[in-house]
Amino acid sequence: MNAEIIAVGSELLLGQIANTNGQYLSTELAGIGVNVYRHTVVGDNEKRLLASLDEATNRADVVMITGGLGPTQDDLTKEVVSRFIGKPLKYHEKTLENMEQFFKKRQKEMPMNNKKQAHYTEGADVFYNRAGLACGMAIEYKDTFIILLPGPPRELKHMYEHDVKSYILNKLEEDSLVLSRVLRFFGIGESRLEEQLLDLIEAQTNPTIAPLASDGEVTVRMTAKAVNRKEAEGLLDTLESRIRERVGDYIYGKETESLPFQTVRLFRDTGKTLSVAESLTGGWFSKALVDVPGASDIFEGSLTVYSEQAKTDVLRVDSSVIEEFGTVSKECAEQMAERVRQLYSTDIGISFTGVAGPDAVEGKEPGTVWIGIAGPKHVTAHLLNLTGNRDYVRLLAVYYGCWFLLK
Ligand code: ATP
Ligand code: MG
Repeated sequence: MNAEIIAVGSELLLGQIANTNGQYLSTELAGIGVNVYRHTVVGDNEKRLLASLDEATNRADVVMITGGLGPTQDDLTKEVVSRFIGKPLKYHEKTLENMEQFFKKRQKEMPMNNKKQAHYTEGADVFYNRAGLACGMAIEYKDTFIILLPGPPRELKHMYEHDVKSYILNKLEEDSLVLSRVLRFFGIGESRLEEQLLDLIEAQTNPTIAPLASDGEVTVRMTAKAVNRKEAEGLLDTLESRIRERVGDYIYGKETESLPFQTVRLFRDTGKTLSVAESLTGGWFSKALVDVPGASDIFEGSLTVYSEQAKTDVLRVDSSVIEEFGTVSKECAEQMAERVRQLYSTDIGISFTGVAGPDAVEGKEPGTVWIGIAGPKHVTAHLLNLTGNRDYVRLLAVYYGCWFLLK
């Protein structure tokens, strides 16, 4: 099964917003084994939208259209799709009711043009909007499913996760099932990983294997085709264990589980707490943790001690340590981790000190990073020699911090 995505909106063509809906849908569709062959961006223009729709439906099994379901003049996706298919628009009762409630609660009259957000094309399956007003829909036209989703990303994601994903999966099950699984790696480069898996990659037919490097980590997507879910899962399980035998030490998670997510999960599972002292990363590590829902169960607090004085006066690192070894040192990293651990009374304390660049500090090259980890009995520090610009060095430091905590 293959798909095309059409993003509708003149603001996309003007460069005012980026097509993140296209990116989101592509990622999601790849996750269920649907190949996305093309992205189209088209303005709020009837003629050009009709042309895009005509081309896409001639080629693809699924055409996903995002945007233009709203109440204003320029929102014309549903009208265009109805005209294209040659079926009339109708009103979806539940959506109308929801809209009436929406305006009643705000003690406002519903403007007439709002009603069109409840439109759907006769014969379509309607997707109720749980995060906004306009309903989405899916309709079959000459062996192609045309699926309409709202433009606002939050509404689109809600609708996709709630209804559209299972809708597509059901359609997939009817012929053959395609299932994919993502393994996430850290601490190994893409080329080394590929080298370790080369024979598997070269021999791949079903399941297929696709490595992808992004922002300091590598993912491997495995995609299997089978007559049913159980058989597809079986194929993926077999391949996954072969991959794990070779490079399992570098696997830290699956699907969308990030390194900070896994860190929070590990601490929660083991009932431990964490505190953080940041110099190099300036609060980035703490932010990455707090981005994970439920971080409050494990994360006590952090100090950003950027200057030497903040390290000695606030965190109480011994001045003698800094005088003798410098701030970018094993000794300083260890003391920072120990001190923050004591300060917050946590099971583990972690610290980050180093040189993000572009200039050397204390005679140490950019990319020199020390990460200290203090527990109840031991304190250690890991040295990294990273390459990349200022942002990349700090991002990698954050990821390595998680990685060392997971190990
Ligand atoms: P509304 O009811 O808000 O008008 P709509 O379904 O008509 O929703 P649009 O009018 O096309 O959608 O877009 C509404 C907003 O959603 C845009 O201003 C933009 O912020 C966001 N948006 C639309 N399309 C995309 C896209 N492809 N990627 C990211 N954001 C988008
Ligand atoms: Mg709109």
